[in-house]
Amino acid sequence: MSFWGFLKIMLVIMAIGTFLSFIMALTPLSLWQWNGFLHSMAFDVHRTLGLRLSIIFISLLAISIFVFRKIWFYRCRECKKFFALKKKARRLLSSQDVSVLMSVDRRNREGEKIGENEQYVPGTRKTYDTPYECKYCGSAKYKIKTVTRANL
Ligand SMILES: [Zn+2]
Repeated sequence: MSFWGFLKIMLVIMAIGTFLSFIMALTPLSLWQWNGFLHSMAFDVHRTLGLRLSIIFISLLAISIFVFRKIWFYRCRECKKFFALKKKARRLLSSQDVSVLMSVDRRNREGEKIGENEQYVPGTRKTYDTPYECKYCGSAKYKIKTVTRANL
């Protein structure tokens, strides 16, 4: 089985685990076990266990998705190799003047804050381009990010 297939199966198992432990936490025990004695106590144990399992599976699911996305991101699209891309220094593509809506504190003569005003202040919007280059075949992909800041 490929590495990729293995990850997919792990994710499916996590999702099913989360679903089952939710069901376990939300359904009364009597639906599963009609003639058990110490019924209410068993119900509490059952529900606590279900909630704990839910938390564990949700955490594992979140971690898996995070790792899955990272691995997917650093895979080269051209030569299909894993952990192939290396981040290069970002470059400034463009810079433009914009107005930024900001809240500005209103103060009295003693300098105490008496409220806030929303107003437009001059700002700059910069667009950056970060290349990620494959260390095996040299092909690159680019991630574009825009940052808007007030000029203060
Ligand atoms: Zn490559």
